[in-house]
Amino acid sequence: MTTEPQLLESFAAIVGRDGVLTGAAAVPYGKDWRGRYANEALAVVFPADTQQVSEVVKLCAANRLAIVPQGGNTSLCGGSVPLAGGLPQVVVNLSRMNRIRDVDATNYTMTVEAGCKLASLYDAPEQADRLFPLGLTAIAPHCEIGGNLSTNAGGINVLRYGTARSLVLGLEVVLPDGRIWDGLRSLRKDNTGYDLKQLFIGAEGTLGIITAAVLKLFPRPKSVATACIAVRDPAAAVELLAHLRANCGDTIDAFEFVSRSCLDLVFRHIPDTQEPFATRHEWIVITRLADVLPAPLDAALRYALNSFGDGIVEFEVTTNKDDAERWWKLRKNIAEAQKREGLSIKHDISVPISRVAEFIAQASAALRKAYPGVRIVAFGHMGDGNIHYNTSMPDAAQNKAFIERHESEVHHLVYEFVARFQGSIAAEHGLGQLKREEVTHYKSELELELMRSIKRTLDPHGLMNPGKVV
Ligand code: FAD
Repeated sequence: MTTEPQLLESFAAIVGRDGVLTGAAAVPYGKDWRGRYANEALAVVFPADTQQVSEVVKLCAANRLAIVPQGGNTSLCGGSVPLAGGLPQVVVNLSRMNRIRDVDATNYTMTVEAGCKLASLYDAPEQADRLFPLGLTAIAPHCEIGGNLSTNAGGINVLRYGTARSLVLGLEVVLPDGRIWDGLRSLRKDNTGYDLKQLFIGAEGTLGIITAAVLKLFPRPKSVATACIAVRDPAAAVELLAHLRANCGDTIDAFEFVSRSCLDLVFRHIPDTQEPFATRHEWIVITRLADVLPAPLDAALRYALNSFGDGIVEFEVTTNKDDAERWWKLRKNIAEAQKREGLSIKHDISVPISRVAEFIAQASAALRKAYPGVRIVAFGHMGDGNIHYNTSMPDAAQNKAFIERHESEVHHLVYEFVARFQGSIAAEHGLGQLKREEVTHYKSELELELMRSIKRTLDPHGLMNPGKVV
């Protein structure tokens, strides 16, 4: 039987003494971004290369210690922090593995380590006149690419480039028994059987630890035009998106939707923000066209918006970066403003794009009837049918009681509408520990059994991020 001090010594022998944290120093790594979960880990370990990750995992496997892979720890569903109870848990934090191994401008790829901050992955491609398009609003300086891939992150450019899953050509993964799978291929075509990398993307660290990835790059846009548009209602926003796609094609790379309640929160909590128009509007869309051809895009965008009809109340178009950034600041700071306002009951859902407006109307009517005075904060990636649909009470004391008494009822009500519209209860943030139980009501028995059998095959002892996803 290995004692705790012996285990800590063994970890230190692999990653160095400064690569192991315990006690008070480990506490921040056991607490999630929202402050909802705070549990203790036996240790937080910081490997610096793939071999060290492998040795750490082998040591954990030999001693039946659970492993919690961790990137930037920005998970919104408790995926990246230890679970209460169960086996002793070791957080394996990847942030020391932060090298860009290669940029191949001709192959339009770059090979990066899992601990690279997302924000650090834009410059190197740009210097080679390429674009890495994963755009996660305000969180890019904090989250890491390993976490982005493990949650199949989305962000504002999914409309054009797809989610993280579609940006990956190859992966390197340390399996739950410590073996290293080198799948770092940079091929556009490879039909040699199952696409194994896709198993680990979106698995939230339950099947292995991603240590490196080959990512796709794209031509860098030379011309950009952004519009801020006040629309009549969500139905007009849905129609507008379809109209813009028909008129501007794949040049649209973002289409974000913001409701009045979001704007009011941002103005209250985020300095240097102001109404985008002289008039106060209920529903705003921010959209962008981007193209590699240097010809200006603002005329095309204005023409498309002018030809839409009365669903648009007013709009402005700019090619000026600072003006556009002022609008984007409103969208990018909603999550932060909500955090400062206090807790809310969050939903990260998707429905078919054509049904977003119906979903908002029906779910909101039902919520307002059940909880008079409820504040609905709806915003997000309209272009992907993905709406962040959060609820709270405006008064702080009332809100506390609302969340304590009604959280699961509210989830249930919202998810029933999601199911009615054939949607997903976890469009972006994943399941983590927050939605692990909930999802069992919305996936078929067969789907759940397939997921469990994949988990059992790869991780028979259930050591990899236990209590998350399945
Ligand atoms: P972590 O939080 O550390 O981990 C997330 C999950 O992945 C955990 O289950 C963890 O165990 C696992 N994991 C981490 N690294 C690895 C690895 N190397 N190998 C295996 N498993 C691993 N998400 C979106 O999709 N779009 C958004 O626009 C968006 N905006 C956000 C805004 C804010 C303010 C916040 C707080 C979060 C937002 N998110 C968004 C949530 C999103 O999931 C994360 O921010 C991000 O993708 C997670 O990266 P991370 O490095 O912080 O991962």
